[in-house]
Amino acid sequence: MKNLLGGKGANLAEMCSLGMPVPAGFTITTETCVEFYNNNMQYPATLKEEVDDSIAKVEKVMGMTFGDEENPLLLSCRSGARSSMPGMMETVLNIGLSSTTIPALIKKTGNPRFVYDAYRRLIMMYSDVVMEKAEGIEPKEGEGIRVQLDSMLHELKEKKGYENDSDLSTEDLIEICDAFKEKVVKVLGKPFPDDPYEQLWGGIGAVFKSWNGKRAIAYRRIEGIPDEWGTAVNVQAMVYGNMGDNSATGVAFSRNPATGENLFYGEWLVNAQGEDVVAGIRTPNPLNEATKNEQNKHLGSLEESMPVVYKELYAIQDSLERHFTDMQDIEFTIQEGKLWMLQCRVGKRTGVAALNMAMDMLQEGLIDEKSAVLRVSPNQLDELLHPILNPNTEAKAKLLAKGLPAGPGGAVGQIVFTSEDAIKVAAEGKDVILIREETNPEDVEGMRAAKGILTARGGMTSHAALVARGWGKCCIVGCDALKINLKNREVTINGEIYKEGDTFSLNGSKGAVYQGVIDTIDASENPRFVEYMTIVDKYRVLGVRTNADTPEDAANAIGFGAEGIGLFRIEHMFYGLDAEAPLSKLRKVILSDTLEQRVAAVNELEPYIREAVKGTMKVMDGKPVTFRLLDPPLHEFIPQTHEKIAELAKELNISEEEVKSRGDALHEVNPMMGHRGVRLGITYPEISQAQFRAIFEAAAQLIKEGGEPQPEIMVPVTISVRELDDQKVLCEAIHAEIEKRYGVNITYSYGTMIEIPRAAMLADEMANTAQFFSFGTNDLTQMTFGFSRDDIGGFMGDYLDKKIIDADPFQTLDQPTVGKLVEMGIKGGRNTNPKLKIGICGEHGGDPQSVEFCHRVGMNYVSCSPFRVPIARLAAAQAAIKEYE
Ligand code: ADP
Ligand code: MG
Ligand code: MG
Repeated sequence: MKNLLGGKGANLAEMCSLGMPVPAGFTITTETCVEFYNNNMQYPATLKEEVDDSIAKVEKVMGMTFGDEENPLLLSCRSGARSSMPGMMETVLNIGLSSTTIPALIKKTGNPRFVYDAYRRLIMMYSDVVMEKAEGIEPKEGEGIRVQLDSMLHELKEKKGYENDSDLSTEDLIEICDAFKEKVVKVLGKPFPDDPYEQLWGGIGAVFKSWNGKRAIAYRRIEGIPDEWGTAVNVQAMVYGNMGDNSATGVAFSRNPATGENLFYGEWLVNAQGEDVVAGIRTPNPLNEATKNEQNKHLGSLEESMPVVYKELYAIQDSLERHFTDMQDIEFTIQEGKLWMLQCRVGKRTGVAALNMAMDMLQEGLIDEKSAVLRVSPNQLDELLHPILNPNTEAKAKLLAKGLPAGPGGAVGQIVFTSEDAIKVAAEGKDVILIREETNPEDVEGMRAAKGILTARGGMTSHAALVARGWGKCCIVGCDALKINLKNREVTINGEIYKEGDTFSLNGSKGAVYQGVIDTIDASENPRFVEYMTIVDKYRVLGVRTNADTPEDAANAIGFGAEGIGLFRIEHMFYGLDAEAPLSKLRKVILSDTLEQRVAAVNELEPYIREAVKGTMKVMDGKPVTFRLLDPPLHEFIPQTHEKIAELAKELNISEEEVKSRGDALHEVNPMMGHRGVRLGITYPEISQAQFRAIFEAAAQLIKEGGEPQPEIMVPVTISVRELDDQKVLCEAIHAEIEKRYGVNITYSYGTMIEIPRAAMLADEMANTAQFFSFGTNDLTQMTFGFSRDDIGGFMGDYLDKKIIDADPFQTLDQPTVGKLVEMGIKGGRNTNPKLKIGICGEHGGDPQSVEFCHRVGMNYVSCSPFRVPIARLAAAQAAIKEYE
């Protein structure tokens, strides 16, 4: 129904059949709109006749005739897509007012003020929607016909000393209608049409065209609504909220959409029409006593002013909520004391409200557990997991600048301009906001220490954005208003200078930057969240692990419900705070040129690996931890500074020149496809051996200490089972040696990443040796597309804008290609070994759509960054529920 009639049309029909008071009308389907677009913007041949027939029916029900000179019917022409796009498309009201029908309606109602009020609204909407927007006219900012007419109205009110539209007299309205019509001819070069049918068809065409209006297109991009759907047109008899003091119009929600509180909540205006309530022309009145607030407490509620109508409205919202078993967003109009329902739909809500409503409705018995699980979207959960700026305080704060919303939540702190300062000031126990031109890997510790990150450059996939999202950290990137002066430790924004130590507040979900302190609220402390997640887990089939390489991250992830680690990157210990010592050992390994030298260096490195591995396995006691063998970009570890080079020369007992030339020899043209991963182990077995030893010794020690380590060894960037076999010989020998030395049994499993297309294609062979697969979909995407993930910034935007690809494949798994390789890999692998354990450890493991895919293709688990663990749990449960529906 919704697909054909659009949400608005389907629900109007539904309300009708529930016996609720809805003005008569009919719906032109979304299919007609699609046909209209496919057919060079021509209406289907039969449409005119069908519309005429339908109008005749509406005329009969309403007892009025469209365009009649005695008893004229007026119509509204309303857009309505399958999924609601609030305010994105157009609606025209009061269609059918003309030089014949105006006198007739005045005679019939005896209310000329109302008639001319309706007429001036028609001229304003029609000239804007039909004569300007639908004609593709793009006036300069502030010069559109709507703005011009609005300012004429404003001037008139000013001149007469009126405060509200409702103060305008009949004479004023007659005057303004004439002036409007003159202005329309002058600006648009065409007269406002006086023929009701011409108005109607203009309205229908304009609604269709509004599907491809700028706002609508932009909204669809953000919400992922397909362009092919089209909009329906609802043609409906007008009812009038502007007939005097016993008429009104309003908008309401069956529960509070911001908090979820179960209170009928809304706003209304007396003697008004259409969107006056949301347009902010007057402060609207509160609906009832219970929901009055600071702004509107002095204004009368509908409950007081029209108690009978309020009661009827209350009963209707209640039965709508029961009927649709969800919170309803409704629009209504009261014409001379009679209530009319004009719209209902499932209401949009914040993450907090979604959670509260789901739990309340479950307790009330309105919905079952499965529905409750489906009621909160994974993105809303994301919102819940981060402290946010208090929306009330934020609404009053002055916006300094806007950037891209790269990492969610809110952050408040002193501004600093370098990573070191961030660490220093944070160590003093102060909250800091790190401001950078852009960030690079060296800033990682500073980013970690900061509450929020703000950069002048970079996009949504920039380093800062990726890292921040992984940590669930508030981050705004690409904020071009920032003019940073690093030397003076200051930033200029719109001519104002802000210095180190000044306080900023960031809203990373909106990309908004404020000066000064805005208080934050922490939504995840909500015990309801915990309760909700327990229900979620009942329906989940897919396991959820985390990508973590430190005990802190691991502990954090367990808090979020992680059931293991799906990716521990050994090279992680060479970045960040305590990296100096192991890094210098690694440099020695890399730059050794004899076997003896290398073995000696590797032996020095091993204890560092063991400690890191042990710390994390200890935290994850009893849960599996997948260790990926070293997969370092070698060139990143070559010493650059004079000091480091000298130090290393001394250690290796060679000249500085020699260090430099060995470093140069390691230079690779394309390091992403270079000497990395298992390839290192093939060339230098001692590097793999050191890692096996470190892992097994750590495990043996933990077992001795009474722990229950579950190491899994994962070999990266493999292309052949022979690589796995080659390394396995080394692995088994060391395993046996350590077991013997410590006198313990160490259970482990041996598997591989599948991240190169060749490995996916040869998965059946890989599974002869591998006991598990973990799909490394970052590299798999990179190699399937031939896009270097680090270099997509230059063209990804154009590819998305021009719709060459539908989505960034590094964020959402590309199912037809990368997904096909994954499916092929699973099928091949399970053919050989039906018990093969399969997971995913790319960024996609935390993307809800990709998680659904992983469930569908039968993976055992997904692995994602700690903050995304609850999101993956929810997405997995939803996938399981949807599968059975
Ligand atoms: P949107 O999708 O932007 O909400 P609508 O089609 O719902 O647009 O129209 C906006 C407003 O116009 C409605 O909320 C209602 O107040 C008014 N409206 C629409 N149709 C009618 C009608 N038949 N009679 C009276 N008012 C109407
Ligand atoms: Mg609207
Ligand atoms: Mg509406």
